[in-house]
Amino acid sequence: MSVRLYNTIKRAKEEFIPIDDKKVGLYTCGPTVYNYAHIGNLRSFVFEDILKRTLKFLGYKVTQVMNLTDIDDKTIRDSIAANIPLRDYTQKYKDAFFEDLDKLRFDKAEVFPAATDHIKEMIELIKTLVDKGYAYQSEDGSIYYSIAKFSAYGKLARIDMKNQRSGVRIKTDEYEKDSVADFALWKAWTEGDGDNFWESPWGKGRPGWHIECSAMSMKYLGKTFDIHTGGVDNMFPHHEDEIAQSEAANGVKFVNYWMHCEYLIVEGQKMSKSLGNFFTLRDLEEKGYNCNAIRWVLISAHYRRTLNFTLEACKQAQETLKNFTSFFIRLKEIADSDKKGDDISATVNSHMEKFSEAMSDDLNISEALAAVFGLQKETNKLIASNILGQNAAATVLDAFKKFDSVLAVFEFEQKGNDIPEEITKLVEERQTARKNKDFATSDIIRDRLKDLGWSVEDTPKGPRISKI
Ligand code: AMP
Ligand code: ZN
Repeated sequence: MSVRLYNTIKRAKEEFIPIDDKKVGLYTCGPTVYNYAHIGNLRSFVFEDILKRTLKFLGYKVTQVMNLTDIDDKTIRDSIAANIPLRDYTQKYKDAFFEDLDKLRFDKAEVFPAATDHIKEMIELIKTLVDKGYAYQSEDGSIYYSIAKFSAYGKLARIDMKNQRSGVRIKTDEYEKDSVADFALWKAWTEGDGDNFWESPWGKGRPGWHIECSAMSMKYLGKTFDIHTGGVDNMFPHHEDEIAQSEAANGVKFVNYWMHCEYLIVEGQKMSKSLGNFFTLRDLEEKGYNCNAIRWVLISAHYRRTLNFTLEACKQAQETLKNFTSFFIRLKEIADSDKKGDDISATVNSHMEKFSEAMSDDLNISEALAAVFGLQKETNKLIASNILGQNAAATVLDAFKKFDSVLAVFEFEQKGNDIPEEITKLVEERQTARKNKDFATSDIIRDRLKDLGWSVEDTPKGPRISKI
């Protein structure tokens, strides 16, 4: 089955052909660790996780590199404001980021290089750019990239370079397209940087944000690699500048496929730290939403579409997933029984094929989820007619586990430790009452459980407890 991906640089879907047969090199721009990631950031990271998991599902071996931006204008600004050394300040947010990745069930990157550990590589790369005439030193000792020297500048973001202001410089890490200018590779130390500087052939200073990703991607994935991703706001200037640096230094194409994730928005506006309209994963957990439901919300819209985030969607996702868990428990019971039934492998295979085809088509998640819901519906029909046998139930369960190797949202068992002790005790009391044929007490306890938000169903294997 051929895989098609939307390549931003071509503004079109293309067949995906890796450089090395079934091996894929994937570079994903990671978090700037000056604060907790918000769920807009996490949407971009989850998209990358789905991409990686899909490629693995389709038989590729993926090497993913996700950098940790621990040197930039923001980490330095905020660590100085907090009066905490940069390394300690960013460590807190690196740890929090890894907690988020675990909670959201990421298939973690093979390498998480931090900028602070790769200064040597960045200096080497800047030296090459200076030697080749693409970079120059300004009066304050900083090194700038001369965009006029790289004729392909603007090819990713499609910038019309006719009116570019040659020789105009910009020192900040982030800027808009209308201020396209020579950008900083090495920023000479100023008092505002405090203790944050490294020695270099150009005096003490620090690298610009863009050179970090060029140096680290090259180190771990080579001069040319398969896929580079990020959120849409990374396209300019960050990715444009990465192309300029890497291609000028190496003289070969930098990346074959560029992929960008659209924004997660709230009430029509991009979720961002500067607008203050953001939720972190912790905020949502405190509101009572579980991480599987949040992941479901983040994956359920196609990555090239804006995702309008609402708490209502989290609530619905929680219900949907609870429903799936009950379905899996029922399937497990049938699979563990000796019930005979029809062979349904043809139905399972056709849904698996639909899922696989949909994900191969630029991660078409709505079609893929339609296949998932479709198989659940078909199976439920067979359960209702009492013709789903042991083998068929096991086959369906396997199929859902396969779906989940990409989606990573399902719970296949009701988590025991999710049931409060008070509820377990009541259920035990009810069992005792039932054994003693005291059905009046048993019913009273059932009502009490209902008031507390729990339902209990009697099955041949004992009571099944679930949240209402
Ligand atoms: P940062 O930590 O600011 O470097 O951002 C990490 C990632 O989140 C980058 O790939 C950004 O493009 C992405 N990002 C930032 N805000 C949003 C948003 N509201 N929706 C989706 N992605 C975002
Ligand atoms: Zn980057």
